[in-house]
Amino acid sequence: MTKTFPSLTQGEIIKNDQIMKTFGCSGQGGMRRSLDTNTLVIVSNNVKSLYTNRWDGNTLHYTGMGAIGDQTLGTQNKTLAESHTNGVRVYLFEVFKEREYTFRGEVTLVDKPYKGRQNDNDGNEREVWIFPIKVIDHEWSPSEDLIKNSMKKKEEKARSFSEAELLGLAGQAHSNPSKRAVMDKNVYVRDPYVKELSFKLAAGICQLCDSNAPFHDGKGKPFLESHHIDWLSLGGADVIENVIALCPNCHRKMHIVDNEKDVHKLKSRSKDLLDGLQRRLSPKKNR
Ligand SMILES: [Zn+2]
Ligand SMILES: [Zn+2]
Repeated sequence: MTKTFPSLTQGEIIKNDQIMKTFGCSGQGGMRRSLDTNTLVIVSNNVKSLYTNRWDGNTLHYTGMGAIGDQTLGTQNKTLAESHTNGVRVYLFEVFKEREYTFRGEVTLVDKPYKGRQNDNDGNEREVWIFPIKVIDHEWSPSEDLIKNSMKKKEEKARSFSEAELLGLAGQAHSNPSKRAVMDKNVYVRDPYVKELSFKLAAGICQLCDSNAPFHDGKGKPFLESHHIDWLSLGGADVIENVIALCPNCHRKMHIVDNEKDVHKLKSRSKDLLDGLQRRLSPKKNR
């Protein structure tokens, strides 16, 4: 690899002030334009950000900027959208641990930006712009440890959300017909909100054998495991309708036997739980 600007290697972890020095950009925001170096630095924060950027194979579906309300194709979203023709070079950093910026390299748009729907900072659903990008010189990918660490952080955060908030954040089949858990390395990056909502809906009870969770974890939470009724490895979707909380025994059973009757029970249970939740959240409707 030729050593040109910037003198960073893929996978190198640096601090925010080094990003500012190297690229001559601001130290804030997910998209940082520098006129000095004619670059756009974009940051994909796997720990803190509310935006759900998603790797699909080698393509990162990167959500543009604008924390509240509908996003537009203005400012840096425009810079990125036009990066094939405006001469601006785009560089990607990913955050897997707080304050540590992992350099992934120069990126390029592989397809036209498209619109999606995600929640904004106030929890309202709005329109976002999503940019499919790819690392140009792809020779580095994050370790399983890095990925798992950032997933754990998100899961911890998800615990403090209410059912209504989780429902807004969790993927649902009608809004995400093709939502798949993304495989990065050998780790499925699963939606932490879907998982947490499945625990909240189960309320400490295994949804197959209807027994209480066998024990409580260190934080006093009933220990259950979340299971994809249609398995992820067979293309099952990572949406709340397909995810259910089980005790470890039943979870093993589902993976070893996967009895049709059980599958059927879990599917109808999942539907009941979700219907119940919708009713609780809109008590006046359907009465
Ligand atoms: Zn069970
Ligand atoms: Zn499972």
